[in-house]
Amino acid sequence: MTMSSLELRSVPFFNYPHVFKSHEAEFMAIFADVGCRGAFIDQKDLKEFEADLAVYTGARYALGVADGTDALIIAAICAGVQPGDEVIFCTHTMVATAASIHFAGATPVAVECGPDHLIDPVAVESAITKRTKAIFPTQLNGRVCDMERLQAIADRHGLFIIEDAAQALGAKYKGRAAGTFGLAGTISFYPAKTLGSLGDGGAILTNDAAMFERMRCMRDHGRNADGEVVRWGLNSRLDNLQAAFLHHRLRGYDESIRRRREIASLYHSLLGDIPEVVLPPAPCSHGRFDIFQNFEIEAEHRDELKSFLASRGVGTLIQWGGRMVHQFKSLQFGCSLPNSERLCTRMLMLPLNLSISNEDVAYVADGIRAFYRG
Ligand SMILES: *Cc1c(COP(=O)(O)O)cnc(C)c1O
Repeated sequence: MTMSSLELRSVPFFNYPHVFKSHEAEFMAIFADVGCRGAFIDQKDLKEFEADLAVYTGARYALGVADGTDALIIAAICAGVQPGDEVIFCTHTMVATAASIHFAGATPVAVECGPDHLIDPVAVESAITKRTKAIFPTQLNGRVCDMERLQAIADRHGLFIIEDAAQALGAKYKGRAAGTFGLAGTISFYPAKTLGSLGDGGAILTNDAAMFERMRCMRDHGRNADGEVVRWGLNSRLDNLQAAFLHHRLRGYDESIRRRREIASLYHSLLGDIPEVVLPPAPCSHGRFDIFQNFEIEAEHRDELKSFLASRGVGTLIQWGGRMVHQFKSLQFGCSLPNSERLCTRMLMLPLNLSISNEDVAYVADGIRAFYRG
């Protein structure tokens, strides 16, 4: 055994200061520029970022909002989700997906995820009732759902789709970007997301002019372009300073994605032969371009593996704290979704971020191998 394989490393699950530290001079220059212009609210930095985000995703319109949760709430309300409606979502998602349906006054209906950890189209179809209004699929872990099947189901039943693409900026399905399939798609710029801001931030994508106009008004107190109040609104503008930071990061985003996919490939080559572990699909598969927001594996003896890796300095994360949305008792879903509940006991996210080296990845993989060899 070489010395290096005996050495303990520290591989944190996510390194929050890393993005700032690795671009500190640029960020400070942006801060000074925005500050000296006094350009804090809804200024050109926001408009320019929105324009480039639309170009990047191929969406007709992009709208910056306060965060990914507001993006969902605004999209749901402006799409016309209302009391009496049911909206179908996958229980393997952040609670915010369901919260947006709740705050629009409708009933969130949780369904199973399939073996790819994404919403199961068969489960969607069997959950449809006379009250169903829409489907809110989550493009989880940076991978796009089977949008053709979902759209076919939606068309058959007269439903619309809003994509929770919080984790999937730049992910594609058959050449088309996450967030551009449905009536609207939402993005999060939470710092640990693939395009993280230095705080909270979010965006909504849409190709529908009327939908865009409703959402633009709603994020700004219901005011139209003339400043007249034309509907009930919120204050949910994406902070202009964050927009300036994000615009800067967007220029290097393709390179970040290239690196994320490289790390995913490395995990695949190092872990592919361990029978106790199920890996997510490899980077190039089934017409998809995955951006690997997360590398979520399924693992036998998951909790013991997590502790073992922690003892070797490797940070891992169990998504949503190990609970699917329908399992939060206070939210009173009262349903049972056995496939997702089983997945919940097995899923584990390995470190995949821009601060880790190939040696770190090999070290994580060595740890997993050592755990199962006993
Ligand atoms: C992060 C996330 C959100 C919420 O985004 P915020 O910007 O934190 O409000 C919603 N849905 C999913 C799937 C997410 O991962």
